[in-house]
Amino acid sequence: MALFVQKYGGTSVADAERIQNVARRVAARHRAGDKLVVVVSAMGKTTDQLLELVSQVSDQPEARELDVLLSTGEMVTKTLVAMALHSLGVEAVSLTGAQAGLRTDTAHGRARILGVETARIERELERGRVVIVAGFQGISEEMEVTTMGRGASDITPVALAAALDAKQCEIYTDVDGVYSADPRIEPNARKLSDITYEEMLEFSSVGAGVLHPRASELGMVYNIPIIVASSFKDEPGTIIHGGVSMEQFNRVRGIAHDSQVAKVTVRGVPDRPGIAAGIFEPLAEHRISVDTIVQNASVERLTDLTFTLAAGELQAATPIVQELANKIGAAEVVADDDLGKVSIVGTGIQSAPGYASRMFRALSDAGINVEMISTSEIRITCIIRRADVENAVRALHAAFELEKADVAEL
Ligand code: ASP
Ligand code: MG
Repeated sequence: MALFVQKYGGTSVADAERIQNVARRVAARHRAGDKLVVVVSAMGKTTDQLLELVSQVSDQPEARELDVLLSTGEMVTKTLVAMALHSLGVEAVSLTGAQAGLRTDTAHGRARILGVETARIERELERGRVVIVAGFQGISEEMEVTTMGRGASDITPVALAAALDAKQCEIYTDVDGVYSADPRIEPNARKLSDITYEEMLEFSSVGAGVLHPRASELGMVYNIPIIVASSFKDEPGTIIHGGVSMEQFNRVRGIAHDSQVAKVTVRGVPDRPGIAAGIFEPLAEHRISVDTIVQNASVERLTDLTFTLAAGELQAATPIVQELANKIGAAEVVADDDLGKVSIVGTGIQSAPGYASRMFRALSDAGINVEMISTSEIRITCIIRRADVENAVRALHAAFELEKADVAEL
């Protein structure tokens, strides 16, 4: 009997009817002979609602209390799914993250998994039970409840799949897979049958939002095949795995975009060792993650330093950068929060020339100005005006002929 770990996201368990739908799907797989561990998110917008309640009673909630509160969202769901399974005559038991053995560090709100003690889950599986686990949470060495960050219930099933040596991890959500571009923007976008961990990481870090990047990362490290599919349909989704199939050879796989980008330029920065570290260390300490960084060649020992970040973090970042600019005697700090980014992603990019020029040509033909460029081995990203993002996605989707079925380009 093979073991599978499934996960159902918030939309898929948003009300009683949907919970029953999940229970029916789980029951069918259980009856077909699969061993199942099922991870669930909080119902619908529960986590947002809990945070809204918090804001009404406190400006600065204690991290410990906040984590206990937020962990209850997933606990409600896992219990209801177990009860719905019982009504269908399926033996099931629901566990909190702590009961499921998810050990984390003590970083409340952004905890990292240190290990999984699988004994309890294994015992329940041996008894023939379906095990339902509350996602997003664990327990620290100090026996405190911890949560792993917004959207982090994706991490739980991959960690459990790795620890339990499951055959595969299945993430069920409200989209039916990973697409060559956002189908709401590009109607010709196609569902990809498979994608590599690296490509998925690039997609999620530039805003595709289907899977938490830490889930792709964990899948890659432990080589767990991850399927992303719809909980509402009975269709194959996208498989994320380590193999490179023939069809993705030498191709751009998709266009990722993010419409919420800001940039900060520090002008007239003295060009001497330690300045970049001096600016980026305090940002890192405030957990502000900086993306593309460009430093111009210096003129008369002065340079400009520009970096991008999520538009939502600009407010927090500006005073920090301003203070540092004053300290190092930089001329001024200029912020621009009206930007977006668009990327082409594909393993093939690293082995073939010509992708960058084709990208820039397509953007320029669409009348779109490129403000900054950054690359990884398998991605090229252009920072553009926010108003141009949707046009850019469509122009690039067409330029790389992504509407065509995946075929081997040998
Ligand atoms: N309930 C948590 C959130 O809304 C975790 C998750 O659903 O992934 O962020
Ligand atoms: Mg989610």
